[in-house]
Amino acid sequence: MIYILDSAAFMNLGSFGFEEEAYIITRLVEAELKDSQSKQYLDSGKESGKIKLQDPLPEYMEKAKSAAKESTDYPDLSEADFSVIALAIQFKEENIEYQLLTDDYSVQNVAEHIGLNYDSLAHEKIKEKITWVWRCPKCRKTYQRNTDTRDCPDCEEKLEKKKFK
Ligand SMILES: [Zn+2]
Repeated sequence: MIYILDSAAFMNLGSFGFEEEAYIITRLVEAELKDSQSKQYLDSGKESGKIKLQDPLPEYMEKAKSAAKESTDYPDLSEADFSVIALAIQFKEENIEYQLLTDDYSVQNVAEHIGLNYDSLAHEKIKEKITWVWRCPKCRKTYQRNTDTRDCPDCEEKLEKKKFK
C-alpha cells in the first residue's frame, strides 16, 4: 500500500511509525513542513527510503480543482491540498493501490465526493458529504456552488463557510 500524506497527517505520523510500505508527499506538502520535528521525520524517512517525493501530473491538478469546486470546498484549500488530492486521483486512474491520509475535513470532503480512498490519523472521518455555502461577513451575500474565489468580489472580505442545509 502507498500512503499519500498531507502536511497535517505527516505531523501526526509520530505515533504511526514507518512500518508500512511507502509514504509519498508532494513538493508543495514538503514546503509546508517547517518545524524541526517534521524536518527530522522527513530526513530520516527519506534516508530510509520510506518517504518519497512525487508530484501529480498537471492535468490532475486541474481535476482536483474542479472536484473541489463541485464539492464546495475550493475556497478552503491550498495548492498543497490540491496536490495531494491530485495525486490520489492520478493513482486511482493508474490503478495503483493507495490511501490518502488527511486530517483536513475539506480534503476529506473532496475525497468523499469523488470516491477516493482516504483515512484520517487524528480524528474520525467525516460522516457524510458536506455542502458548504460561502458567505461574505460584510454584505452577507452567499455563494453556493463552484466558488473559485476566497474573497467576496464586491467587498474583498474573506468568505466564511457555513453548512448548507
Ligand atoms: Zn461582500
